Amino acid sequence: MPSISQNSQLSVDIVVPVYNEGEIVRQTFEHICSIVDHLPYNFSFLYVNDGSTDDTLDVLTALAEKDPRVHFLDLSRNFGHQAALTAGMNTSTGDIVITMDGDGQHPPEVIPQLLNLVKQGYDIVQTQRMSEAQPSWFKSWTSSTFYKLINVISGTYIVPASADFRALTRQAVDALKTMPEYHRFLRGLVSYIGFSMVILPYKPVPRVGGKSKYSLGKMVRLAMDAIFSFSLIPLYIGISMGGLLLCLALLEIIYVFSFWVRGQTSGLTTDWISLMFVTLIVGGILMILLGFIGVYVGYIFQEVKHRPVYIIKQPAKKENSD
Ligand code: UDP
Ligand code: MG
Repeated sequence: MPSISQNSQLSVDIVVPVYNEGEIVRQTFEHICSIVDHLPYNFSFLYVNDGSTDDTLDVLTALAEKDPRVHFLDLSRNFGHQAALTAGMNTSTGDIVITMDGDGQHPPEVIPQLLNLVKQGYDIVQTQRMSEAQPSWFKSWTSSTFYKLINVISGTYIVPASADFRALTRQAVDALKTMPEYHRFLRGLVSYIGFSMVILPYKPVPRVGGKSKYSLGKMVRLAMDAIFSFSLIPLYIGISMGGLLLCLALLEIIYVFSFWVRGQTSGLTTDWISLMFVTLIVGGILMILLGFIGVYVGYIFQEVKHRPVYIIKQPAKKENSD
């Protein structure tokens, strides 16, 4: 692969997933062109039509006929934003890949900065929405709560308020391709692969037109994909609950015993004491066993994701290799 810092005529693929964006896709394309046409790179556009039911495909076909830099993939149905982005990245061939939304919310004015940072040697330039520019209080609150939670329970640090607006070197894209897991949360996977990453804050702008395709259901599904694919902590709940129940059984016995050694009675009926003790012990043991099963399921889950055990950035140089 050519050295990013030396070669100025690098190829850059702009990957844009689109779902029912027919009324604005031409406008946002022209906006991106107005920025990138002045930059010294070989640009290609790779649109991914994610099962649109409007005229998005017709608009993309017309754009591709008019401009040889425009290419598109047409998915067989709506697979969702993360899947569409993955399809685009897997098909891309450029030295650098930029992913961005097709609704104009990711300002193309940021592209020169993304590329400058890649040229400075960063493999991943991850954008971050500036906090004062959130679209609505609901999105702002759910987003900040989500990132706080995920960063407490996940072993991978995920940049808060990060967007799927980023530049990646070919090496970083190839590393992402080694993770074929089904439930994808790209903001986590991008942090997981390592390499040198820099955060670039940007001010999001309102949609050029059309409506958000992220319904509440899709947001919840994305959050669940993130939590369950980046954390095994929910599986340890059984063990913790079991431990808690056994501790309560122990406390009950200590309480009753403390009266018994002093020759007094605790005021609790013997029926209640024995029933509660058995319930706590049996419940605790069951919860712990359930927790063990949870941990095994977690390990199976990690194996079936087929994530690589490691990712090599620079292969070892072998002397006398021919
Ligand atoms: N998108 C997609 N498939 C989907 C949902 C969204 O390809 O199932 C695209 C959409 O056309 C847009 C980008 O992903 O280009 C971001 O979606 P949207 O703007 O609706 O999300 P929001 O900005 O509201 O979070
Ligand atoms: Mg949007």
